[in-house]
Amino acid sequence: MARIRVNNITKYFGEQKILTNVSLDIKDGEIFGIVGPSGCGKTTLLRIIAGLDMNFSGQVFYDNNNVTKLPPSDRNISMVFQNYALYPHIDVERNIAFPLDIKKYAKNKVNKEVKQTTEILDADIEKYLSFLPKQLSEGHKQTTAVGRSIIKRKINVLLMDEPLSNLDAKVRSQSRHKIKKLIQSLSNTVIYVTANGLEAMALCNRIAVLLNKEIVQMGSPEKLYSDPANLFIFQLFSKFPINQINGTIEESKFSKNKQVIKIPYKVTYPIEVIMSIREEDISLLYKNETNLNEKVLIEGKLIEKRIIPPYLNLKVETNFGEIKITTMDKKAEDFKLGDSIKLYTIMDKIFFFDRANEKRIGI
Ligand code: ATP
Repeated sequence: MARIRVNNITKYFGEQKILTNVSLDIKDGEIFGIVGPSGCGKTTLLRIIAGLDMNFSGQVFYDNNNVTKLPPSDRNISMVFQNYALYPHIDVERNIAFPLDIKKYAKNKVNKEVKQTTEILDADIEKYLSFLPKQLSEGHKQTTAVGRSIIKRKINVLLMDEPLSNLDAKVRSQSRHKIKKLIQSLSNTVIYVTANGLEAMALCNRIAVLLNKEIVQMGSPEKLYSDPANLFIFQLFSKFPINQINGTIEESKFSKNKQVIKIPYKVTYPIEVIMSIREEDISLLYKNETNLNEKVLIEGKLIEKRIIPPYLNLKVETNFGEIKITTMDKKAEDFKLGDSIKLYTIMDKIFFFDRANEKRIGI
């Protein structure tokens, strides 16, 4: 395993600029996520790190070695491709064994390593060892591709390009747990690419967000969740849909429809903003609760109620506009349509984004 650094990578495809001055410093043994929307250049960046694309400006280092001009075969890397890239004419066993077979390892050593790999994969893939890729489900293709990438050998880095994106939601969530256990047990440097923020949060120690050709924020999952630099990142790392309320910030007040929320900083000129609150960050205030310290109170009428166990979804018409909440608060099930409702949150859970460029305000 190795520390992986990329320095000032700029990449064009023809006239189209794909990456602008991208720099990363990934620690030895870190599970590092690269997250961004479809088409933002994640695969391109991974291919540059792997040496599969050498037509760019900037440098790539593995530890202190400048590998920018080194072909992939000399980099000791392992890669799981988004489409798995299994060899169609050989069976699952030979696909998993492939990295050892091409290095002409002794047959008994290869057999032993395939066995160990299938045990680590903790899946029923053993039953399918003699199958060809076209006979496999998407889940088993993915397991085979991951098996091939982790079969025991010395590698500098394991590169994973959206390995779960072809799986349906249920298999995807099971595979996420499996992959997490697996990559943590490898103690290798792993670079994990995905368009799914929640997947990156679940798997990675640190995440870089790639947007509009640049790295716009980098940090721990907790940091990106609680301190997002822009609206896209706020949404990317939210489990449920978010509330978005257009309004204005003037001096140290947010206002909408003559309703006002005091904010803990001051702006020098009025800004049109989007006030955003995660549905799960809003709670209900009951009659007997009087301690309003630090709480931001919003009042309204219940206009929609849906129970999707274990969650209760409520839509409340307020003077700020419609606000949705997702809660597991059982008491809230008693509210009926038309009831007056008091909602509250705390200032730390309210985010303001400039409507012009969607950048966060107040950081
Ligand atoms: P996805 O999540 O959909 O896989 P991505 O973030 O991995 O997307 P890339 O595959 O790196 O994005 O593609 C980035 C941009 O570069 C896209 O606009 C894509 O169309 C373009 N692109 C990728 N490969 C080539 C190529 N070989 N020639 C020309 N353009 C390309």
